[in-house]
This record gives sequence, C-alpha cells and structure tokens, in this order.
Amino acid sequence: MISLLGVPLDANSSHLRGPALGPAAIRAALHSGSGNHASESSVEVVGELDDIGDVDVANEVGSYADADLITAAIRAQLDAGRQTITLGGDHSITYPILRAFRERHDDLTVVHIDAHPDIYDDLDGNPLSHASPFARALEAECMTALVQIGIRTATPHQREQGERWNVTMLSARQVGDFDASAISGPIYLSIDLDGLDPSVAPGVSHHEPGGLTVREVLDIIDALPGPLVGADIVELNPTRDVVEMTAMVGAKLVKEIADAMLERSC
Ligand code: MN
Ligand code: MN
Repeated sequence: MISLLGVPLDANSSHLRGPALGPAAIRAALHSGSGNHASESSVEVVGELDDIGDVDVANEVGSYADADLITAAIRAQLDAGRQTITLGGDHSITYPILRAFRERHDDLTVVHIDAHPDIYDDLDGNPLSHASPFARALEAECMTALVQIGIRTATPHQREQGERWNVTMLSARQVGDFDASAISGPIYLSIDLDGLDPSVAPGVSHHEPGGLTVREVLDIIDALPGPLVGADIVELNPTRDVVEMTAMVGAKLVKEIADAMLERSC
C-alpha cells in the first residue's frame, strides 16, 4: 500500500491563499466518476492507496510547529515502511517533508518540477515561505542532488543560489536535456503544478506561461530509474481552477506516481 496524505496549508504563500483546499480537490477528482482507477500501465492503482487523511496544521504564517507536525507525519510513514504521496498545500510543505527523509536516506536525489526554483534565501522575511523550501532543505543537507525541471523565472539571486549548491537547473526550454539515467539511488519527486503550462493547469496561484505539457511530466515520471521513495503534488489552488481541470491533472499525477512507486519500490 501507498499512503496518501493531505497538508491543507497555504499560510506560507507569497501571493494568494487557496492551496489549503488542494488536498480535498485532488481527492474528489481521484474518485470522480469521470475516470477509472487504473494507471496507464493498467494497474488498479487507486485501490493501492491508503488515504490517511490530513495533517492537522494550524495554517499559520512561518509556523515551525506546523512544520514539525508535517515532519512527524512523514517520519511515521517512513517508520512503517510506507511510500507516501503528499498533497499540498503550498510548496512550503516540501522542506519539512524532506527533513524526515534526511533521517533515513543519505543519498537522496530530489527531482523538482516547477516554474520557480524556490531557493530564495529570504522572501518577505519568512524562512518557511513557499519561495524558499529548497534553500532550507539544501542548508539542512536533506539531499545529495537537486534536479529542477521546467524553471522559467530564475532571478540572478536564485541562479547564484543554484550555483552555490550545485543545483541542476533545467529551464522549460531545456526539458529535453533531462537525463534520468544519470540519477542513482533513491528519488523523491516534488511537483509544483505551476511547472505545467497554465493552459493545462490554470488552477494555480502563479500563472507562468511557457510551461510543460502533462505528457512531458508523465514522461519524466516514467523515466525515473527509482526507487521512488516519496512524492508530493503542491500548489493546486481550486479557487483559480477551471472546471476542475487542474485537480484532474493532480489526480492523474497521483495515479502515475503510484504506478511508478509500485513498479520501482524500495
Ligand atoms: Mn511554482
Ligand atoms: Mn514551487
């Protein structure tokens, strides 16, 4: 079984609230009558998901107590030998998730799909901002390699940050250069839905045109050599969605990530 965990937290968003509603919207899409429960490889993946509910966060700005609750929830799943797909919430949730992985893996590669590098040293004075989770995770040595794909907003400061930590930053223009075969060891996958083009994923707070197609993201998941030890899907903002299409993209990603986890388990 794979654990499905929600984190209804959007207090660390810099622009708009709304992602706290994300977990419920993706769950509804996953169980919608419009599709079935099979992956593209014909595995009945939804039946392999154990929905363990939401982390009971207070959803307060810059809250280390909320971060600790998220880390504890993931640690419990790792202790139980479970792979977990976490539904955000804004992208701030990924740093506390990765803190739990640091306790178990010393050779973790994080593959991060996003329009934004999310490695600001500081944005708005909130160390836990959704613009900084990978800066915090790199400082805490949560991973040995970070590969970002789909980036199209890197400022000179974020480029410097990337060089400082040896981040592989592939722009949306360079998506074809992603070489999954260069990755060895366990992989954690973090998907910010604004990495996709807003024409296919409008339900996000930060529209950044020129993004990835759904198929490009699915191809990246397919290519990961694994084992895929954990994943998150973040930044769905249902208040911005159009006929639940972004929620449905999130549900599709849950299914294909679950398929990859089952196929390439630890
Ligand atoms: Mn983003
Ligand atoms: Mn992000």
